[in-house]
Amino acid sequence: MNSFNSLVYIWIGVGIITFVTLLLLKVRAPYGRHSSEKWGKMIDNRLGWFIMELPALTIFPIMTIMGPAEKNWLTWLLVALWLFHYVYRTIIFPFRLRTKGKKMTITIVFSAIVFNGMNGFLNGYFLGYLYQIDDSIKFISPNILIGLLIFFIGMTINRSADLRLISLRKENTDYQIPGKWLFDYISCPNHFGEIIEWIGFAIIAWSLPTLCFAIWTCCNLIPRALDHHMWYKEKFASYPTERKAVIPFIL
Ligand code: NDP
Repeated sequence: MNSFNSLVYIWIGVGIITFVTLLLLKVRAPYGRHSSEKWGKMIDNRLGWFIMELPALTIFPIMTIMGPAEKNWLTWLLVALWLFHYVYRTIIFPFRLRTKGKKMTITIVFSAIVFNGMNGFLNGYFLGYLYQIDDSIKFISPNILIGLLIFFIGMTINRSADLRLISLRKENTDYQIPGKWLFDYISCPNHFGEIIEWIGFAIIAWSLPTLCFAIWTCCNLIPRALDHHMWYKEKFASYPTERKAVIPFIL
């Protein structure tokens, strides 16, 4: 357990270094609107999303289910919530995208495979191999009820924002300024929702690997939201000045 925890702490450190590097060097992760050929060979955007999310979809549930640790209802709840997210992100989301012909660099696909693979491994190893059943954990535990509420609020915001953004792009149209709903407060409700979602997951599971996942989600998505926000301001002179990037009224 000690060496496993050390590995998780190292991975948290890598996440924080990534966060600081993205912010200090002002690197815009090259996919979507920041896509660029200078980062290497390009592949179809939808295929890229599918390939890079597949390790997360598969590794966590397989390791959890195959591992020797005893399972309880909390194990199955966590697997179900994980699958609920990753079936959407891996299979449904890419095929909803309306950006036909868009490409993504394999550098992004590769780095996301590393992140998703490691994240799936750490969480799957913990639940499948190290988890010890604690009979005192009840479904009505405050952390589980509060975590579930936060998880589903985050997921609803994330999916709703994804849908609203995707539907902004009708055939042959360029980017537009999103408006109404949470977009009146922040540029990236999709990233905001995803951050809330994995914080909720960490509160339910109350484990080091899920905390690590929530921290990594912030490290990935806060710089991306700041980049999107800056990009909107550069592209649209009329972009609302009072709008924040990712946390309403704050950031
Ligand atoms: P974006 O907001 O950049 O794009 C989402 C989709 O909407 C794309 O198809 C994009 O087109 C389109 N779109 C976005 N804004 C506009 C606009 N103003 N006008 C027209 N079309 C628009 O999302 P991301 O690519 O950053 O992320 C996608 C999802 O993946 C999010 O839900 C995010 O939370 C999640 N994610 C999670 C990560 C994690 O670490 N857990 C990491 C990265 C993403 P186009 O592709 O042409 O830009």
